[in-house]
Amino acid sequence: REAVSSDASLDDRQVEGALRPRALDEFVGQERVREQLSLVLDSARRRNRAPDHILMSGGPGLGKTTLAMIIAAEMGAPLRITSGPAIERSGDLAAVLSTLQEGEVLFLDEIHRMARPAEEMLYVAMEDYRVDVVVGKGPGATAIPLEIAPFTLVGATTRAGMLPAPLRDRFGFTAHMDFYSPDELELILHRSAGLLGAPLAEDAAREIAGRSRGTPRIANRLLRRVRDYAEVRGDGQLSLRTARAALELYEVDGLGLDRLDRAILDVLMHRFRGGPVGLSTLAVSVGEEAETVEVVAEPFLVRSGFLARTPRGRVATPQAWAHMGLTPPPDAAF
Ligand code: ADP
Repeated sequence: REAVSSDASLDDRQVEGALRPRALDEFVGQERVREQLSLVLDSARRRNRAPDHILMSGGPGLGKTTLAMIIAAEMGAPLRITSGPAIERSGDLAAVLSTLQEGEVLFLDEIHRMARPAEEMLYVAMEDYRVDVVVGKGPGATAIPLEIAPFTLVGATTRAGMLPAPLRDRFGFTAHMDFYSPDELELILHRSAGLLGAPLAEDAAREIAGRSRGTPRIANRLLRRVRDYAEVRGDGQLSLRTARAALELYEVDGLGLDRLDRAILDVLMHRFRGGPVGLSTLAVSVGEEAETVEVVAEPFLVRSGFLARTPRGRVATPQAWAHMGLTPPPDAAF
């Protein structure tokens, strides 16, 4: 493989694309998902048919887009990428569906944010490979059924529970994407460093992995920042010392908490005495959308034992108070 770092014309997003695994056996971790997927793909190949529709649930940066690309590559099928927010009316979806090629993989990111009328159209398309195009308006309107090519829908959502049941039921299976272990992140980092042509010391990889919030996208991003630092301020070597200095500069703390994570804990402790506080109040207080707090920050904080979800709201745990170097008030709710 060619190193991708020497080409100055590549921006960060292109580098992210260049670091994507292209085949199922290059994809690190998520054993169960990989096994489920390879079974579905093998059986589809055997029957010479498009694989069942697949739903992927999991937070941002865990590899959903990468898997969709791998599915298309493994099937030798073309891939179309769109997202829920881009589908504002059913006509937007009809335009995509009616131009699909046979066997094409349609990746629909943030599928839970698609417009309702489009959802109904998607049900029919998934089940019968048909789109009902409505011609005319009012009482004279007629629906003309249009046959479309058999395709595979790969839907991605941050939480499968957010999807209406009729939509969820139309997927052959749901791949639940989990956070990655530090060992898996180390593997990903070494692979990426190899592709970037920047040899990464073992202890530096461990350090970056431990601060990546269980998320490959974050691991790769931190790696690029460490590499920048090594090139500009260091001797180009990705050593433990360089890694620590770079991560400090970018305000990623020893456990991987970033600015938003710390802002949430800070507000929770200083303004709400550790909670409980409702999600929307918390989000307003840190100047973020509720969905960002819920999808981007919270799962990691909960998993790390810093935040608890209770029926009355979010609560900072004793561990969180300790991590922030604060003493909880005697009446703190945990
Ligand atoms: P999502 O679609 O879930 O937001 P992506 O598929 O875009 O996440 O992945 C983000 C980045 O992380 C990609 O650049 C990819 O290279 C890397 N990545 C994700 N999962 C893996 C994995 N299992 N092994 C190696 N790299 C991965």
